[in-house]
Amino acid sequence: MSIHHLVRSNILRLTPYASARSEYKGRADIFLDANENPFDTGYNRYPDPLQWKVKEKIAELKGVSREKIFLGNGSDEVIDLLIRIFCEPKEDHIIILPPTYGMYRVSADIADVAVREVPLGARFQPDVDAVLNAADAHSRLLFLCSPNNPTGNSFPMETIGRLADAFPGITVVDEAYIDFSAQPGSLSLLDQHPRLVVMQTFSKAWGLAGIRLGMAFASEEIIGLFNKVKPPYNVNQLTQEAVLKALGNPGQQRQWVHSLLGQRTLLAQYLGGLDFVERIYPSDANFLLVKVREPRRVYDFLAGRGIIVRDRSRVALCEGCLRITVGTPEENEQLFRALVEF
Ligand SMILES: *Cc1c(COP(=O)(O)O)cnc(C)c1O
Repeated sequence: MSIHHLVRSNILRLTPYASARSEYKGRADIFLDANENPFDTGYNRYPDPLQWKVKEKIAELKGVSREKIFLGNGSDEVIDLLIRIFCEPKEDHIIILPPTYGMYRVSADIADVAVREVPLGARFQPDVDAVLNAADAHSRLLFLCSPNNPTGNSFPMETIGRLADAFPGITVVDEAYIDFSAQPGSLSLLDQHPRLVVMQTFSKAWGLAGIRLGMAFASEEIIGLFNKVKPPYNVNQLTQEAVLKALGNPGQQRQWVHSLLGQRTLLAQYLGGLDFVERIYPSDANFLLVKVREPRRVYDFLAGRGIIVRDRSRVALCEGCLRITVGTPEENEQLFRALVEF
């Protein structure tokens, strides 16, 4: 089944920006086509617009073919492109399941695309029937964040599969925290679900938030649309080099994840012993959502000691909650000492 009918007509008609460079790569010696400075600085040439070396490494690691991968300037760019490809401003809308990540709404607001909210239900799980009831022919994107930010829980694969089957638009699963999760993730659903996009990022488990690199996995048809719309050189040379270096040593990532999961358990145990802590939600991510008495006072007390956490206490369904990122053992120790003092 084609996804043609879901794509904005101006995007279908678009003639993308073309650089002649890729046609001649490896078959020419003198490049006088792009007005670059010819003197070698290591960075005087434009980078590979499709980042094939990086994609080959990611394909190997994830077991997904390189043609089904898109790389963006952070997941933020992936979210923005999805909205610009699929949502006609003032006509179409996206569906989000609050409480969730803030960028879906911000990107939609910037594009003048409406947002329908279907709040998460019991145990912060999607209400599948409510989501499908909210959907109509103008529902172009459904954002499922699993593990979800800020609640920390994952959605069962079965729920994601059911929604991807029945939602008439594109289902987007944001797996920014998947490396910390006990769940297997949704990449294995891609082959059966032509309208599914799975997003991951190098910003969390890989320790590379500073290089800005997000991934999207989808059918070749959807990846082709991303490539048509993206700025030609959206992932710069320094980023491509830094990620290749990291991908050359995946053991480091696994070691960090192992350490952070141990620290997450320890932190939850510590927090559970404090009398002003009312609830610690189960987490599949590198943070804990913690319900406390007097959240603002706790927040200010910590800030006064130079420790910044995220105040989510005024977010619907997160009343009284702080979101605390798992730090290094030393940082977690200092956090705990400050909380004991509080
Ligand atoms: C941190 C985070 C991201 C990462 O965004 P980048 O632009 O890749 O840094 C994406 N989604 C969620 C839900 C996040 O919490």
